[in-house]
Amino acid sequence: MDDLFTEGDPIADTRAPDGPVETRWERRRFEAKLVNPANRRKMTVIVVGTGLAGGAAAATLGEQGYRVKSYCYQDSPRRAHSIAAQGGINAAKNYRNDGDSVHRLFYDTVKGGDFRSRESNVHRLAEVSVNIIDQCVAQGVPFAREYGGLLDTRSFGGAQVQRTFYARGQTGQQLLLGAYQALERQIGLGNVEMNARHEMLELIIIDGKARGIVVRDMVTGEITTEFADAVVLASGGYGNVFYLSTNAKGCNVTATWRAHRKGAYFANPCYTQIHPTCIPVSGDHQSKLTLMSESLRNDGRVWVPKAKGDDRDPRDIPEDERDYYLERIYPSFGNLVPRDIASRAAKNVCDEGRGVGPTRLGVYLDFADAIGRLGRKAIEAKYGNLFEMYERITGEDPYEVPMRIYPAVHYTMGGLWVDYDLQSTIPGLFVIGEANFSDHGANRLGASALMQGLADGYFVLPNTVANYLAAGPFEKVDGSHPAAVEARRDVEDRIQRLLAIDGDRTVDSFHRELGQIMWEHCGMERSEAGLRKAIDEIRALRDQFWQRVRVPGDGEGLNQSLEKAGRVADFFELAELMCIDALHREESCGGHFRAEHQTPEGEAQRDDEHFAYVAAWEFTATGQPSVLHKEDLNFEYVHPTQRSYK
Ligand SMILES: Cc1cc2nc3c(=O)[nH]c(=O)nc-3n(C[C@H](O)[C@H](O)[C@H](O)COP(=O)(O)OP(=O)(O)OC[C@H]3O[C@@H](n4cnc5c(N)ncnc54)[C@H](O)[C@@H]3O)c2cc1C
Repeated sequence: MDDLFTEGDPIADTRAPDGPVETRWERRRFEAKLVNPANRRKMTVIVVGTGLAGGAAAATLGEQGYRVKSYCYQDSPRRAHSIAAQGGINAAKNYRNDGDSVHRLFYDTVKGGDFRSRESNVHRLAEVSVNIIDQCVAQGVPFAREYGGLLDTRSFGGAQVQRTFYARGQTGQQLLLGAYQALERQIGLGNVEMNARHEMLELIIIDGKARGIVVRDMVTGEITTEFADAVVLASGGYGNVFYLSTNAKGCNVTATWRAHRKGAYFANPCYTQIHPTCIPVSGDHQSKLTLMSESLRNDGRVWVPKAKGDDRDPRDIPEDERDYYLERIYPSFGNLVPRDIASRAAKNVCDEGRGVGPTRLGVYLDFADAIGRLGRKAIEAKYGNLFEMYERITGEDPYEVPMRIYPAVHYTMGGLWVDYDLQSTIPGLFVIGEANFSDHGANRLGASALMQGLADGYFVLPNTVANYLAAGPFEKVDGSHPAAVEARRDVEDRIQRLLAIDGDRTVDSFHRELGQIMWEHCGMERSEAGLRKAIDEIRALRDQFWQRVRVPGDGEGLNQSLEKAGRVADFFELAELMCIDALHREESCGGHFRAEHQTPEGEAQRDDEHFAYVAAWEFTATGQPSVLHKEDLNFEYVHPTQRSYK
């Protein structure tokens, strides 16, 4: 495609066993090499990230007897972004006896991802899901229970069973406290060295293997090189490339982008999830958007007025003048259609001029029926903290008036390419949780990110990393190695370069403008013309950034502008790759909706003949086109069909 990229050899996941899908994980675990307990003590693993994926991995590896060095940029591992997760975590426990099974969770997830994920990975995820709940209950995670004491579940989008376990609207927080306790125990025992407020700024590769990282102490500004036998990135997603998103403000792409520049392929960068139920944007002053959990769609009904521009108080609009459009268009899934479908439907009704609220970019999420049916107390027990959050932000009481919601950037399905062992294209570099691309295809179903993060951290990585470490311990290396010296110098030079620009625009102003370009052209709907325009605009803005950004202060201590500048510089490069990926994928699938490729009813139109592959991008050099490697996706169990939730 023009000179935007070149195409290289196909790539394959050589670690995934073949044979019946239900036996693959069992076989891989059996065939993977083990490390005996005495040897584990001689080996070090770096884990970047202390969210559910990284926290679980570091705690488990520490418990297994490895030496672990753990890093996060927050002041405590307990403040990783996972703490924000609200709605729940899926597991195929079938406690409700409502027809759930490992196979059904597998099926729903492959279908939900619009047939752009690997069957082997997804099946493993569904299998492991049941262990996660046992593990967390054993840790004391206070999942919601029914009156009789049994664990309660609720529904999430894209499923007709109730398999989502939850702890009110604070599931991530409670799960993270469980992982954090396990991590703290290993810190206390001396197995895990915790380095909070340390930011990884570069990967160190020695003899073709990931052997360490360059980190900056964010308080003192000190830059050090750290070494290990393997490096695990659990650094989360990159939704903040859009500036406005539901992610914590600190979420960024630097750890994975730096690894990408050093040789790790980046897979499906354009697959972004736009969540349908967020509090609408209220003005230019905003730096963050707030999610209203999908769990609310269990009881809330989504609607807009039938007539355009109907400004009446929603309570005065009679039933027959309301359009419960999700229930109308998708009668079998109703308000619980997957996120990509619900988001597009909201956009469509707003585009028709039927949006509500001051900006008209909003739809109602109405609890009046549920409150009438179940009573206010029951609704309060399930969603109280979410209602409170909504009221504090909007000044409206959702027990009295319907919530107003609109789609917003929420999650990134793309990430570093990994094989079945969760190893990237750089030997010794493993990637887990939202930072990798592995399990969700083109659209993640609700409550499945926590499931994946904990599956990777507690159960998958601790098995697969051993297969790699069995060949270790590797030759000792230190900061005098030329590769380490060079990586460290690169970090120092970059910091100096950012500080030296001394321009006239803040980092935030660049980030905001970048986000606007991305939302406009690479957001809910993409088109060839828009993406080409975006690529030009991103390049021009990036040039401006490197000439005009102003980073006050110095690098010798705490400097949040400097931290942000480095992250935004990486977002600029990522943004361009996202647009190129979106441009080359001449089909619509899941969250990637190309205006040119839709069914007559306006649904995503996949092109399985030409695009049933993972796009794995290789970095070449700054300013040079990336190389596209395709990994073919084969479906033996869940046969690709036009997704229907009608
Ligand atoms: C508001 C909200 C609600 C959500 N609700 C749900 C839900 O109900 N159910 C569900 O399944 N999913 C939910 N999700 C998605 C889910 O929370 C995330 O996908 C998941 O928690 C990511 O976990 P993680 O461990 O991969 O990364 P994170 O929790 O993002 O952790 C990343 C870690 O990496 C560290 N880090 C990053 N870069 C660096 C660096 N360069 N140097 C050092 N450290 C670094 C950070 O400090 C942090 O410790 C929600 C997401 C949002 C935004």
